[in-house]
Amino acid sequence: MNGKISQWKDDKGFGFITSEDGQKVFFHISSLTTKGRRPEIGDTVVFTSKTDNQNRLKASSVAINSLTKANKYQEHNQVEPKTKNSFDYILILTLITSLLFTAYTYFKSNSVESSIIFGIPAVIALILLGREKKPKNSSFNCTKCKKIERYDTRTISAWNRGFTHLYCNACHVQWLRNNPRQEKNHSSNKSGGCLGAFTLIVGTSLFGGYSVLNWIVQTLI
Ligand SMILES: [Zn+2]
Repeated sequence: MNGKISQWKDDKGFGFITSEDGQKVFFHISSLTTKGRRPEIGDTVVFTSKTDNQNRLKASSVAINSLTKANKYQEHNQVEPKTKNSFDYILILTLITSLLFTAYTYFKSNSVESSIIFGIPAVIALILLGREKKPKNSSFNCTKCKKIERYDTRTISAWNRGFTHLYCNACHVQWLRNNPRQEKNHSSNKSGGCLGAFTLIVGTSLFGGYSVLNWIVQTLI
């Protein structure tokens, strides 16, 4: 049954739901099935009710609509994996080649010092694979209100974590208010440092490449 919380005594932990057909139904906090926050007057709810031994209507399970919707939103969004571009495949190739060379050099020379250098590109490739990426489009449509909004650090970060349905800032603030416990997960943000890492990988690749070349030349001669 659908209804709306018409009375709520937060200190006592009980209140009343006015059902769609106008009946007043008693409910206690223990019958609440949604998590995240306590009930508030005006919340729309879905509930089941039964009559108690004094013939009064009593709700046996109460779900606050805005909280069930928020949970659904969360479940449905963490589905699409992070997309890989060609640069990622180069990185994966670098990673594998680097590890193979490290292992091969180690087995051949039996010396950690001379083989460890081939492992450096692998480490850098790993770091870069976990980097923050930018979406192709500069703006997105809010899933909730359909407004077009430009990407900012929060939405880019969410996009990087595989979210495909994004909320605009206004809807996000609204969502946070309904889900206060989620705040710490959503404000976490990796900072760029992309240029520095890029310089590092180019430098190391050149150096690593030179070492490999040197090694091949020496093996052949
Ligand atoms: Zn919105």
